[in-house]
Amino acid sequence: KRAQESSDYEQMELAAKFFAHQLRQHSNSATVIDYLKGRGLSGEIVKQFQIGYAPDGWDGLLSSLGKDQRSKDQLVDLKLVNRNDQGRYYDFFRDRVMFPIRDRRGRVVGFGGRILEGDGPKYLNSPETRIFHKGRELYGFYEARQANRELQQVVIVEGYMDVVALAQAGISYAVASLGTATTTDQLHMLFRATRRVVCCYDGDRAGRDAAWRALENALPLLNDGIELSFLFLPDGEDPDTLVRKEGAAAFTGRLNQAQSFTDYFFAHLTETIDVQSDAGKSLLLKQAKPLIERVASEFYRDTLMERLARLLRRETSQLAGQIKAPTAAKA
Ligand code: ATP
Ligand code: MN
Ligand code: MN
Ligand code: MN
Repeated sequence: KRAQESSDYEQMELAAKFFAHQLRQHSNSATVIDYLKGRGLSGEIVKQFQIGYAPDGWDGLLSSLGKDQRSKDQLVDLKLVNRNDQGRYYDFFRDRVMFPIRDRRGRVVGFGGRILEGDGPKYLNSPETRIFHKGRELYGFYEARQANRELQQVVIVEGYMDVVALAQAGISYAVASLGTATTTDQLHMLFRATRRVVCCYDGDRAGRDAAWRALENALPLLNDGIELSFLFLPDGEDPDTLVRKEGAAAFTGRLNQAQSFTDYFFAHLTETIDVQSDAGKSLLLKQAKPLIERVASEFYRDTLMERLARLLRRETSQLAGQIKAPTAAKA
């Protein structure tokens, strides 16, 4: 199994090299490079993230890396190649800008591929494989660690282009959670490397939903000293569009003004609740209580309880005993 795994990583690395090479050599390369330039990326940043191009044929990667039956089967296992009902093999990614996804140790475990133009899904991601588990990887984490001796903070964004555009602007500490909601595993990985995490998703409905789900998933990780905050972008913006519009200084200014975990917690819960009424107060208690009980740190639980008590116009002591510590609290 070890031997197979190491050969899987080698094959993925070769695939990343193949795509990077195509970006320079393929007959479409001028078009693709124009596209990347149009999105504000320099050759340097393209190299740093090893961004590449999957050619528009059916067997570019296949004929380069699938020399024998064994390597063809491996490419199928790694979801770089598909096999149809007739037993024919063909490339999974075709005519797309390719973003290699590296694990914490820098090994390529998957790819994201963006369409240049035309029909079809805007992004295709590698499906799960024996070495790629979406909820456990973060795009850009390895690159961020390479770029910074120590990570003072990490910004979580939604997309590949957000990570790369921020790095291009000099904000080299962004990671993306690969299209899914940011998971507890992903947050855990980040909090082992830094104490300060800012969630910054797109300024749209999906982005706001993603923020609340990230908050819920972060509760068991909120230990003493951990700083989690939320930056909400203007409608229609994402980190890529905004940093290009405003520049890095304005964007870091926004990061420093991000809403604290506690402020966002109550702002969100009271959005649809009238806390003046008894019905509203009891509903707020009912919704906040199970969430607060999942918070790891006793200090943060107490802080949230005090805020809750103020909103409910109760003494904190009246609510004491209502809130239990998490059963499997991390010390
Ligand atoms: P771009 O700036 O290149 O137009 P984006 O990164 O702003 O793209 P969004 O539509 O905001 O794209 O999506 C954010 C992220 O969600 C993408 O980077 C990608 O990881 C994921 N995603 C988007 N669309 C799809 C899709 N059709 N299938 C899988 N993942 C997707
Ligand atoms: Mn979006
Ligand atoms: Mn976006
Ligand atoms: Mn975008």
